[in-house]
Amino acid sequence: MPGPPTGPGCAAPSSRTLTSTMPRHAGLIRRFTDVRGRAPAFAAEAPGRVNLIGDHVDYAEGLVLPMAIDRSCLAVADLGGSSNRVRFESLDLGDSFELDLTRPIEPGLHADKPWAAYPIGVLAGYLDDRDPSTLSGLDVLLTSTVPIGSGLSSSAAIELAIATLIEHILGIESEPLDRARLCQRAEQRFAGVPCGLMDQATSELAECRHAMLFDCRSERAESIRMPPSDQLATFVIDTKVRHELASSAYADRRAVCERAAHSLGVRRLRELEPGSIGDVGLLPEDEQRVARHVVSEIHRVYLFAEALRSGRLDQLGPLMAASHRSLRDDMRVSCPELDAVVRAAQTLPETIGVRMTGGGFGGCAVALVDAEAASSFPQRIQMAIGPSLDPDAFPVRASAGARGWVLPPRNREPMR
Ligand code: ADP
Ligand code: MG
Repeated sequence: MPGPPTGPGCAAPSSRTLTSTMPRHAGLIRRFTDVRGRAPAFAAEAPGRVNLIGDHVDYAEGLVLPMAIDRSCLAVADLGGSSNRVRFESLDLGDSFELDLTRPIEPGLHADKPWAAYPIGVLAGYLDDRDPSTLSGLDVLLTSTVPIGSGLSSSAAIELAIATLIEHILGIESEPLDRARLCQRAEQRFAGVPCGLMDQATSELAECRHAMLFDCRSERAESIRMPPSDQLATFVIDTKVRHELASSAYADRRAVCERAAHSLGVRRLRELEPGSIGDVGLLPEDEQRVARHVVSEIHRVYLFAEALRSGRLDQLGPLMAASHRSLRDDMRVSCPELDAVVRAAQTLPETIGVRMTGGGFGGCAVALVDAEAASSFPQRIQMAIGPSLDPDAFPVRASAGARGWVLPPRNREPMR
């Protein structure tokens, strides 16, 4: 089992002061102070997320039901660096880069460091209509407990942490959804990922102890209380495999969805009613399959949200099982490792529901587990899977979205 939760968890978002009860924050502040010879003046934190149900439907303007998790990106900064320059450093990658603010900030800068696209994209979003000198000397140190590239949205965590940090430095406060959209644009334009808004919206808007029903058409979010922790635990099971196919398949499924919508005379597949699934029979086979997935998955998200609201936990498992089957057989985005993890978890009596989560072709499954058996779940899932795979199963708690702090001078001293 991993150590104690390391993310935003449920600490009051209004708390403006970092205290020594937040050791990870104190550690990063100390690190910045030790290396830079001065204490940071700002801090921000933004969580990753796990999607409980509703995959490969965001680009069809469907419904998704993610929750932010207690793994997060944490960033500290000040404006004490070199004039007209900004600097970003990732502790996790042991890497850093600088930008010259007197030059245009465009996609492709530091192309040899793929991670640079995320901070640069967010920075560019804030400097679009602002004098770059407002951020002269910006010096950022970040670290994250969100596993990188596993489908838990380490990318949105970085983006929202940097966005929140920059807003605290500039003394501005955007509408939360606008902040999420700026981060989405950063990922699309600078990292070249044609992502929907789910990850950024969750990292920004999620509420502690709640999942977040997000309507990708209206861009409205509704918090839905998760069952109490003495009843149900949520686990991520990271297969630790990542197949090359992931991003090309995402683009392919998205294109087929658009073709299917066009063939059916609708703008997006979201517009189809669950009952109209029979109408897809005349489409080419690949369009039939994605249309069937999208329409049925959106309906499952709706039913899952209803079941959560009314505390009908017995309804969650069948919906998750159907979601996995649909992603595997119709959308064809699962892989042997994800299928093995899901099959193994389904053999355990404490599993309430389990499915692959995210884009697929590796990455993670999400399991809802009877709280009484939660502590032994990681060992039991490993035994059920056997030696052919070595996944990492860890519990996650529904956590709050991004928050930031202006560090009061007394707190700028390293906390020891
Ligand atoms: P996911 O969001 O599912 O984790 P992505 O491929 O969307 O996967 O984003 C992962 C990328 O985000 C990494 O390859 C890296 O460029 C960037 N990233 C995530 N976490 C960090 C980190 N701690 N330090 C630097 N870059 C990071
Ligand atoms: Mg991502």
